[in-house]
This record gives sequence, C-alpha cells and structure tokens, in this order.
Amino acid sequence: TTTVVWLRDDLRLADNPALRHAADDGDVVVLYVLDERSDGVRPLGGAARWWLHHSLRALAAAVHDAGARLVLRRGAAVDVVPAVVTDARADAVVWNRRYGGSEREIDAAIKAWAGEHAVEAHSFAANLLHEPWTITTGAGGPFRVYSPFLRACRRAEEPRDPVPAVHRLSGPDVASDDLGDWGLHPTAPDWSAGLAAQWEPGEAGAGRRLADFVDGILAGYDTSRERPGVEGTSRLSPHLRFGEISPFQVRAAVAGASPREDRDAFLAEIHWREFNWHLLYAQPDLATVNHRAKFDGMPWRHAPADLRAWQRGRTGYPLVDAGIRQLWQTGWMHNRVRMITASFLIKNLLLDWRAGEQWFWDTLVDADAANNPANWQWAAGSGADAFPYVRVFNPVTQARKFDADGDYITRFVPELAGRSGSALHEPWGDDPPPDYPAPMIDLKDTRRRALDAYAAIGASG
Ligand code: FAD
Repeated sequence: TTTVVWLRDDLRLADNPALRHAADDGDVVVLYVLDERSDGVRPLGGAARWWLHHSLRALAAAVHDAGARLVLRRGAAVDVVPAVVTDARADAVVWNRRYGGSEREIDAAIKAWAGEHAVEAHSFAANLLHEPWTITTGAGGPFRVYSPFLRACRRAEEPRDPVPAVHRLSGPDVASDDLGDWGLHPTAPDWSAGLAAQWEPGEAGAGRRLADFVDGILAGYDTSRERPGVEGTSRLSPHLRFGEISPFQVRAAVAGASPREDRDAFLAEIHWREFNWHLLYAQPDLATVNHRAKFDGMPWRHAPADLRAWQRGRTGYPLVDAGIRQLWQTGWMHNRVRMITASFLIKNLLLDWRAGEQWFWDTLVDADAANNPANWQWAAGSGADAFPYVRVFNPVTQARKFDADGDYITRFVPELAGRSGSALHEPWGDDPPPDYPAPMIDLKDTRRRALDAYAAIGASG
C-alpha cells in the first residue's frame, strides 16, 4: 500500500496515529499543504507564520532522517490533496482530525472525493485528549461552563497512551515546493530575532521544553504560574498549537509527578485547551460572533489612536505595557498578563474584544483558533463561560501583587529600570520618567464607564 499522510496541526513523528498507521501499512508520502485559498480558513498571523516556517524545516529534517521527503504544496486542500494522491499513485490518504468548522468541511470534501475514486481515507484522534463530541452534558449537548466539563472529562474514558514514534519511512518521490519560496519567514524587515532567541520550533524543541518543565518548573507550578517575572509555566503553548507535541504525550510525561496539586493545576490548564476546542466545535464562528447575543449591543468605542497606544505598549500602565512589549519581542505573553491587557482593552478602553483578538492572532506564536477567541470572549464576558463583568482588573494592584519588585516590568519597560514601589508601579507621581507616557486614561472613571455600558446591555455575570 502507498498512503499519503496529510499533516496539518500535528507536525510530529511521535504519537502521530495517522503517520503510524501509514508507516505500518507500507509506503508513505508525508504531505503538508499551505492552504490560504479555501473559504473560511483563517490566514495565519505573522508570528505563527514564522513559527510554521521553522517547524516545517525541523519536520523536513526529521522526515529526511527517517528516509523520506516532506512534500510541501500550496493551494486549496480540496485540489492539492487529490493531486498528490494521484501523482503518488497512492491507495489511501490519512490524517489526524481537525475541529474547526471550515477545516471539517474541507476534510469531509476530501473524504468524499476519496470515496468516489476508490482511494481509502481514514482519520484519527490525535490532538485532543477528548474529541469535542465525546463529552456531553446529561442532556446530550455541549458544555458551556468549564468546571462541569472538566468533571465530565475526568469521568470519561482514560485517554490512551502515546503511540510509538515512527523512525523509518519509505515511499515514492513526489515533487515538492521549496519552503523558502513560501515567504513565511519575515523579510524587509526581519523582525524575528527576538522570537528566535526565545524559541526552538519543532518536535525536538518541544520535547526538550516538556522535559525541562517536568524536571524543574512543574514542582511549584501552582504558585509560580501566577508570577510573570519567573519562568513558572511550561511554555508549551506554541508546540501544542502546531502539534509538535500532543496532549497525550504531555499527560503521560506528568503522570505520577508530585506534588499532586501542581500536577492537577497543570492538567486543569491543559483542559482549558480541551474546553476551548469543545466551544469552537459547538460555535465555529467563535472569533467573530459574540456567544451572548446581548453583547451585539455593546457601545464599543471607535478610537484608533487608543488601540494603537495599546498595541504599542504605550498606555502608561507599566504591567500592561510590559505585557504588550513581551508579545512584540518574543511572540508570547504570560497568561496573567494576557488577562490584564485584555481587560484593559475591553473595559478601560471600551474597545471591541475582536480588535484585541485580531492583534493577538497576528503577534502570538501560539495563536490558536480556539484558545484565542475563547479567552477573549471570556475576558469580555460575552463568552459561554465568562469572567464576571463587574470585575475589572486594576493593572496597578495586579502589578503590586504579582510583580511587586518589578522583575517582569523592568525587563520589558526599560524606561522604568532601577525604580521600585510607587515610582515603579505609579510612575506618574513626583518623578515621572522622561521617556515613558503618562497614563492614557483614568482607571476609576473608565471602570465606571465600563460598568455602565455592561448595565446598559443588561449583561449579568
Ligand atoms: P501553561 O501554564 O504551562 O499551560 C499548559 C498548557 O495549557 C498551555 O500550553 C496551553 O495549551 C494550555 N492552557 C493554559 N492556559 C490556558 C487557557 N487559559 N486557555 C486555553 N488553554 C490554556 N493560549 C493559546 O494556546 N493560544 C492563544 O491564542 C491564546 N490566547 C489567549 C488570549 C487571552 C486574552 C488569554 C487571557 C489567554 C490566551 N491563551 C492562549 C491562554 C494562555 O494564556 C496560554 O495558553 C498560556 O499562557 C501559554 O503558556 P504556557 O504554555 O506556559 O502555559
């Protein structure tokens, strides 16, 4: 048998059930399609394109070491995948399942094509511990709230163990594009130096990150994860996003780790990812449509200059600016600071959460079709499981609590280096730094304005 393995968000040779199945069955063509043509497929943002470039380079090297060639093609998947199957004279095509609306339609169309052309098509579960439709409420529908979803996952069938890695591949030679011609890597200007300094895209880098986490950071995670100034989380998010590592591998690696509170806290975060995909499966337009329709009436401001100040990390609030600048420099932002910067945009600036979602989509290396919109909707209060709208993060109080000494702030806002206490956290007092902006808004006034706006649409939370 010759099988085309169509890889998508599963750029790995280990724990890859589709690839494993194909390799056990005979010859293999490993295919990646850059699809920027199909209807409804959201184009990748800049940081994710950079990541994809390097991840594919790493994957091509690994496939080469195993004895085959990674075939790269560009175009609408419904055209390209059948063309490669035909070129390779393959008998079968296999993939690991995706859960976004447009992606499911594309996969269904290719399955239908295969059926009509006597080509076998098989799909596998690889990227979520629990596929969205397998976890249901008592009434048989999707969950809207995280805690009962988590409990249902715990009651569900144990996730399987990782499947063994593929080390040997053989198959026919099929023409491939040249990765360099895809233009995924930024040029003119190349802004990616900060990303390259921080990350090692690819399966090997993901494995190292996981091992470092399990050996070090995991013990103490439950408290260290709240402190942006220390490396207190796994930083696996972009690796999980591109499927360089699977949640099954992550789960297996932390199984039995102690203390138990740390392991449970970490697995609870892994289940937020599961939950967000569950939400996206139930609502494919999660990135554009308020889950709660009331929010369609929200009086969002149109204030491009304010949006720009936020995007550039020039709000005058140190923790907000540090977060946004961490994002610029490294393509990643600490979770607590994501919540605070999101709250600032939505509540203090009263700007539509979709503007923030789009900015994160373009700048995060882990920009994820489910996690990004679901978290923004959560922060806005428009989501299924929503942050209480009456709670507005105060970025000064938050900074004093989670970055008291300013380790994080001063790393990304050098204008504030050497300061402490109020001079650091409220730098607009007696001795304002000359090159750092004054606060762009008053926290109290804008908090009141936000609460009035929420009350006006009759939101409750
Ligand atoms: P860890 O704390 O080590 O967690 C382990 C893994 O669990 C993460 O890699 C991630 O896959 C998952 N996870 C952790 N927290 C969350 C969460 N709140 N929601 C969903 N999954 C979670 N995460 C993304 O992967 N992509 C996004 O586009 C994204 N956008 C976000 C936007 C906003 C406004 C907010 C508040 C959060 C967003 N998150 C997103 C969630 C979270 O901030 C990141 O997953 C986390 O910071 C990644 O760092 P880590 O891998 O070190 O996390």
